[in-house]
Amino acid sequence: MSLVLGAIADDFTGATDLANNLVRAGMRCVQLIGVPDGEVDLGDADAVVVALKSRACPAAEAVADSLAALDWLQSRGARQCFFKYCSTFDSTDAGNIGPVADALLDRVGSGQTVMVPAFPANGRTVYQGHLFVGDRLLNDSGMQHHPLNPMTDADLVRVLGRQTPHPVGLAARPLLARGADATRAHLTALANEGVRHVICDTLDEDDLETLAEAVVDYPLVTGGSGLGQALPAQYRLRGWLAEVAAPGRLAPASGGALVLSGSCSRATLGQVSRFLEQHPGFALDPLALAEGDAHLEAALTFARGALVDGGPVLIYASADPEGVQAAQQAIGVARAGALVEQALGRLARTLVDEGVGRLVVAGGESAGAVVSALGIRQLRIGGQIDPGVPWTQAPLEGRETPLSLALKSGNFGSEAFFTRAFTVLDELAGEGRA
Ligand code: ADP
Repeated sequence: MSLVLGAIADDFTGATDLANNLVRAGMRCVQLIGVPDGEVDLGDADAVVVALKSRACPAAEAVADSLAALDWLQSRGARQCFFKYCSTFDSTDAGNIGPVADALLDRVGSGQTVMVPAFPANGRTVYQGHLFVGDRLLNDSGMQHHPLNPMTDADLVRVLGRQTPHPVGLAARPLLARGADATRAHLTALANEGVRHVICDTLDEDDLETLAEAVVDYPLVTGGSGLGQALPAQYRLRGWLAEVAAPGRLAPASGGALVLSGSCSRATLGQVSRFLEQHPGFALDPLALAEGDAHLEAALTFARGALVDGGPVLIYASADPEGVQAAQQAIGVARAGALVEQALGRLARTLVDEGVGRLVVAGGESAGAVVSALGIRQLRIGGQIDPGVPWTQAPLEGRETPLSLALKSGNFGSEAFFTRAFTVLDELAGEGRA
């Protein structure tokens, strides 16, 4: 069967966030890391999310990568395409949301798309075109200090207007309150005036449902993962999507249980301490890593011993701000980060080869390093552990059973996340056996 939804996400954790919402709304979903260059087996997936790194790169590169992803998704028969960006509309006057949306619209041959960044469940709402994070306007939410894309204007019509030569319109909340038909009529009227991009207000789940109903037949929609939560119900009404009892079902998991943590965020530090109250752990020290392979060997020896009973065990570079600063002052920010990421990649590669089959990685960059060291190109998305973090499974060359993998970005997850993850995996795999 061909794909229902083909999504292009501008970063890795954003892709997982969308995929997680699609699964929760009943779609079977695969996340691809980059555009595939060969054959891929998508199994029975209804949705594919291609994860790019196109949020902060030059606009021309983002456009080229996004078009390549679109071509691939269309070649697999995707009925609707979705350009996913951050719910805080992360971009600059140079792009990349405007240029990418324009290029994708041209390629699908459509004259209009909607922009629905809001994710009300996470406090991201849009009113009269203005984006709020909780009770603050975007430009007063902390996002005005973002190192790569400072968001200093909350008026998205104006923000996007600086990124595209085409007119930008608004679908405001009073209109949405009149329902999907009225919204559709308004969008059509705007399209007739040549308005290519329509920023959409969204205060709550009802607004997302109205918007999803109004745009389900658009070849291209754009937005945050909130819209992804609302679209599958519309696909089902159209008869495009079968009712699936457990879309997040995974194959039974096996093998040792390992947690690798390179995140130094406050949430992760709490998760590390909580885990160490009950389970063994090994602290990686960037300075010791800088001195040669002995430290890494010590970590491996520790892990092999502790994994005899299957684990879970933790290897962590996570340190408090003083610890991080000390390492950075001694060997430099980039070197400290690179040494840790490299070490996590090598540990994952070696220990997975030796039988680890259930792996949790904490930290966005750290997860990227581990996924790339393992040569993983696709993830089947399973059920959720905590909001925004699903279990996934990846086929590995030379192994019969897939690797179960949970990739947690820094600030996500409850304090008991590292132990809870393995309990949830048992439940998901239980559904798999049923
Ligand atoms: P998060 O999702 O919390 O931002 P990341 O993995 O994306 O986590 O980023 C954390 C960065 O900090 C990585 O580059 C990692 O290599 C680096 N790092 C981890 N531990 C240390 C440490 N003890 N000292 C210095 N840098 C560290």
